[in-house]
Amino acid sequence: MEKVINVGLLGMGTVGTGVVKILTRNAHDILQKVGMSVNVKKIMVRQLDKPRTVESNAEFTTDIEDILNDKEIDIVVELMGGMEPAREYILRALRAGKHVVSANKDVVAKFGQEILEVAAEHKVDFLFEASVAGGIPIIRPLKQCLAGNKISEVVGIINGTTNYMLTKMTSEGLDFNSVLAEAQAKGYAEADPTADVGGFDAARKIAILASIAFSSRVSIDDVYVEGITNISKEDIGYAKELGYVIKLLAIAKDDERGIDVRVHPAFISTTHPLASVNDVFNAIYIKGDAVGETMFYGRGAGEMPTASAAVADIIDVARNTKHNANSRILCTCFENKSFCPVEQTESPYYIRLLVQDKPGVLAAIAGAFGAQEVSLHSVIQKSKVADCSELVLITNRVVDVSLRSAINTLIGLPVVNKVCNVIRVVADHLD
Ligand code: NAP
Repeated sequence: MEKVINVGLLGMGTVGTGVVKILTRNAHDILQKVGMSVNVKKIMVRQLDKPRTVESNAEFTTDIEDILNDKEIDIVVELMGGMEPAREYILRALRAGKHVVSANKDVVAKFGQEILEVAAEHKVDFLFEASVAGGIPIIRPLKQCLAGNKISEVVGIINGTTNYMLTKMTSEGLDFNSVLAEAQAKGYAEADPTADVGGFDAARKIAILASIAFSSRVSIDDVYVEGITNISKEDIGYAKELGYVIKLLAIAKDDERGIDVRVHPAFISTTHPLASVNDVFNAIYIKGDAVGETMFYGRGAGEMPTASAAVADIIDVARNTKHNANSRILCTCFENKSFCPVEQTESPYYIRLLVQDKPGVLAAIAGAFGAQEVSLHSVIQKSKVADCSELVLITNRVVDVSLRSAINTLIGLPVVNKVCNVIRVVADHLD
């Protein structure tokens, strides 16, 4: 008799619908690949009478007990989102001896350790490929394909909303607010866009990736976060003029100073591999001691790309089950590395200032930087804005704390009207 592995789906919204579509449309191939068929037996939703865009023979319920108490359900696929009750249901499913697949970055970034420990205790799988960068394979490559490497760097564009907005600002010269309104109208940005434009969504994802890449737990609280709300069309314009683009980068590095994990906008050279990642696309660049540089690119969200990752996890669980090899790869954080505080990180910086238009201004500004041993690579522009001048400076590589002190001194100078923006520059040629 054909073997069947039964799935209980928690949620049939955007991603859940995609999962049902893929499991239906590719059922024959999946049976051939796995050697058993994958059947969605029950689906839990909030509203039973809500119209659904895909047909399913599964039994619908609003009661989690119907799924957790069903002995025939082997895999629970959590696609509800949010922190609670998703976390509780994941833990209960694992404790009931069920494997769990989840796309929930909030829960994985905050409770990943606890969840993986419970999975190990109960000898079941917990897989979460869809929680970072949607359809792009990244968690499995880090845990498996690149397992032979010591990873030193993970740099990604892992928030589609902000990448879409920055791309629009660059290509059409629009300001932040009008691009945000357009992204909201198109459904690319939420009504409350804080998680995206504030950098918090990317922070959760880079915490997950850094934990896996560096084999040491990185929580959301360890990530330094700056969003894109201060990026103006003037900054975008100067970046363009100077041969850069502005991207919201999620950066994780592991070196002798410790783990450095941050999310912030950055000037990146137009020749950088991440510079051409536009619109809602995501990409993750990884540096390993054996593989060298490698980059993963694709759709970081959406019904079918995200479902693609969740279905791959379901197939993995089914294969493990067939070969009695569940809970083979769970928590890989076997080290407890220290962190490099953001104040100690180094970078060149772009600084845009409004200053008084009179002699001696440049000398005063150079003096404020010199006192903190910040050397200037270039003073790029000087254009008239109302009755003052706009100055754009690029520093050489400088320790963050020294840069901040220099900026504080600048703010106190009578010749400086305003420090408009300070943005890190990712460039190998500045030292
Ligand atoms: P969604 O469209 O809002 O769907 C959520 C589903 O969960 C709905 O079917 C909803 O039921 C159900 N649900 C929510 N709370 C529930 C509760 N307390 N009890 C029972 N059912 C509940 O969400 P989504 O966009 O598919 O996202 C699912 C997960 O995937 C999230 O963790 C998200 O972060 C992650 N993810 C999404 C994307 C994406 O592109 N959408 C990309 C990457 C990761 P009703 O249908 O009855 O309302």
